[in-house]
Amino acid sequence: MKLQDHELLKEQCRIGDSWCGTPTMEVTNPANGAVIAKVPKLGAAETKQAIEAADAALPAWRGMLAKERAQILRRWFDLQMTHQEDLAAIMTAEQGKPLSEARGEVGYAASFTELFAEEAKRVYGEIIPTPKQGARVLVERQPIGVVGAITPWNFPLAMITRKVSPALAAGCTVVCKPAEDTPLSALALMELAIRAGVPPGVLNIVTGDPKAIGGELTSNPTVRMITFTGSTEVGKLLMEQSARTVKKMSLELGGNAPLIVFDDADLERAVAGALASKFRNMGQTCVCANRLLVQDGIYDRFAERLAEEVEKFKLGEGTQDGVDQGPLINEAGLKKVETHVADAVEKGAEIKTGGKRSQLGGTFFEPTVLTGATTEMLLANEETFGPVAALFRFTEEEEAIRIANDTPYGLASYFFTRDLARAFRVSEALEAGIVGVNEGLTSSETVPFGGVKESGIGREGSHHGIDEFVEMKYILMGGL
Ligand code: ADP
Repeated sequence: MKLQDHELLKEQCRIGDSWCGTPTMEVTNPANGAVIAKVPKLGAAETKQAIEAADAALPAWRGMLAKERAQILRRWFDLQMTHQEDLAAIMTAEQGKPLSEARGEVGYAASFTELFAEEAKRVYGEIIPTPKQGARVLVERQPIGVVGAITPWNFPLAMITRKVSPALAAGCTVVCKPAEDTPLSALALMELAIRAGVPPGVLNIVTGDPKAIGGELTSNPTVRMITFTGSTEVGKLLMEQSARTVKKMSLELGGNAPLIVFDDADLERAVAGALASKFRNMGQTCVCANRLLVQDGIYDRFAERLAEEVEKFKLGEGTQDGVDQGPLINEAGLKKVETHVADAVEKGAEIKTGGKRSQLGGTFFEPTVLTGATTEMLLANEETFGPVAALFRFTEEEEAIRIANDTPYGLASYFFTRDLARAFRVSEALEAGIVGVNEGLTSSETVPFGGVKESGIGREGSHHGIDEFVEMKYILMGGL
């Protein structure tokens, strides 16, 4: 991997004021299996040290003027953008997404740091009319304390900045555990945080054994909050483990996003929206459309046009020009996609295009369109997390809403219609934290991102994102 600044490729963890740990865990490039670097395999003892470092750094960090924290975060944002190319190169190497998508993610990641640099100055308190004479009621909003952040591999930078930036802005300190598949992006971000002036201990990064690190983060009473993005299964486990010390939880978990195309939709807009939503990051995002519910009257035309467009995708290594679909993250990810397709075909689905491993080998899977999907299939009930667009047929609006909501998840949802009344009616009826109406991409740092039901707790991004990291303190001043 060619970098302009080789100092960004780190093979050690950061605890307090030092880079530490012996690099033993291999980080591989999913596009070709090559080992890119190694990182330390840390466990509970080192996590405890990191928590202690975060705790020691807390008083000075929360005691700073909000404006001073804002300036440091602003510098961190600038550095992320200055090093956009290198950060994108590291990300594509360890995650596989095409370089253009990786560049886009650097910008997206940095935008959270920029937004929360601004929001740091706006953690306002409140004065409430007093309930008794001779008194005043004040409400202060204070940082919650030491935060444990656990992040996934599908957005190796953005999932970190979306948590760490508001936490630091609010005056919290953080111990972050990035995903095993993508630690290098996290460590590069750490190096830039140091250059931006984030003081020792305010941000710590530990790589290694998820169970051991997660166990310490969730059981240590010094950690006051866990912020996690990942599977619902692990989210539930972390919640259970955190119950004993009653930590605040912010959870962004799995989804099973419906994308509904009504007969009255603008066909080309619906196709473009489905492509954007379904095939972003090779279908490996928790907001990717997982079930495409298409109404009778438009079904055949939609299936035809979608397959035509999907066949235009260029599959390959993310560093090659013109590639818009990379490999899947690992063998386990690939197997899940294969299993879902095989199960669907066995239960009557038809492959319109794709449907198998690519000739490129490795973890490449052909972008796929399936028709005739039904609710009995695995892909209707679990996130496929791969490039498979499964089309379900429906007749009535109520039926589509019922199927869309018939899942324990409730993160993103999408629908396409030109009927204004239907746009409002369906938006309100969908059980989801996010609704895209005639839009397939809804992400931005300025909006509240999060789910309902088993998709999670809390919201990230927007001015609401900082609320997760502050607690209200009510002060009654009497004898006045
Ligand atoms: P995915 O299936 O997308 O990899 P996971 O929920 O398994 O989702 O992973 C998301 C993050 O959670 C990763 O950083 C992973 O290392 C971490 N993780 C997995 N298992 C545990 C665990 N038992 N305790 C703490 N963190 C975990």
